[in-house]
Amino acid sequence: MANYTITSDLPPLPAYELRPMPNVLPFISDFWLSILSPHIAYWLVALFFHALDVYDLLPQYRLHTPEEISQRNLASRYEVARDVVFEQCLQVGMSTVLSLTEPGQMTGMEDYDVDVWATRIRLAQRALPAVLGVMGLNATAISKNMAASHPLLAGALAGGHYPFLTTQLDAVTGAKVPAFATWELNLAKVIYWFIIPAFQFWLAAFVLDAWQYFWHRAMHVNKWMYQFHARHHRLYVPYAYGALYNHPVEGFILDTLGPAISYKVSFMTPRMGMVYFVGSMIKTVDDHCGYALPWDPLQHLTSNNAAYHDIHHQSWGIKTNFSQPFFTIWDRLLGTMWKGDTALKYERTRAAAAKKSVPIANGNGKTNGSPKGKANGTPNGKANGKPRQSSKARR
Ligand SMILES: [Zn+2]
Repeated sequence: MANYTITSDLPPLPAYELRPMPNVLPFISDFWLSILSPHIAYWLVALFFHALDVYDLLPQYRLHTPEEISQRNLASRYEVARDVVFEQCLQVGMSTVLSLTEPGQMTGMEDYDVDVWATRIRLAQRALPAVLGVMGLNATAISKNMAASHPLLAGALAGGHYPFLTTQLDAVTGAKVPAFATWELNLAKVIYWFIIPAFQFWLAAFVLDAWQYFWHRAMHVNKWMYQFHARHHRLYVPYAYGALYNHPVEGFILDTLGPAISYKVSFMTPRMGMVYFVGSMIKTVDDHCGYALPWDPLQHLTSNNAAYHDIHHQSWGIKTNFSQPFFTIWDRLLGTMWKGDTALKYERTRAAAAKKSVPIANGNGKTNGSPKGKANGTPNGKANGKPRQSSKARR
């Protein structure tokens, strides 16, 4: 490729040479890292929350008591862990097949792309005199007046005209080669490195949310489809590693195809995809963690968090709060967001579980779960002694 492309009075674009992007880690290829890292992140975060559960370290932030976990859920912890691992093996297999169509990420073109954005910024300035003219301002006159004191501003007002900004003389013609202003290059870098990626992440999150909302809602409306989603709802009291406790059909449609499609339509690079897949997996685990944590940033980025999704896992809230995992926009737009107080409802199920756990006390008044949390002191609610749902999970 030629060293420079000379086009009119625009600064020339630099030459570039593409080469494969080096792997993030020396001992594993990016191909396998992108497939495995979401599942590794899943278990790291889930085991952190599991430790909180086992040692009951943060009872004050629990959404449910340990008794509720053991009494209200229709699947044992063993069944959940087993099915999640099976599910993850399927996902790894399917992700491997889907990823085979992905070309490896290349590098070397970044400076060129930044200069392309700088060129767009330069071209956009050509509209300034006309825009100012509409407002009754004479851009040329203003530009001339401030040329000496504020040459860069004068250049912008003149339509991106910076005759004083040049680099070296052209080797062939001896003409001066125009250059970008520093502010143009800095703005181009901000656009290229921050604004565009942020938009791509937002777009992917928006598309994934839409995909999950409509499939998820359809699975609750259509009886035949609910058979695939019912497994996830055996957990009335979600906990972190139950996040991917799904029927394989649901796992494929919602948790494999959804992220893959949102990744494709947002035109992310494979490296960005890695961050996105790990991030959305951690968010899904966090949404099922069973804790409302004041210091967990993931629970405060949007109003869609563990407490929000927990409502959907309750028999009284199961027809609401379908949105997941990032925003609540679809629930808001389509009127499916839970409205009303939940405190009394939560209190009833805690009290019922506490009451039911008394018979299994070991004689000294201590129960297996040792509820230090919110269940204490509220055994007199209207609990009807039937905290466990019918043998079939409700729709
Ligand atoms: Zn559901």
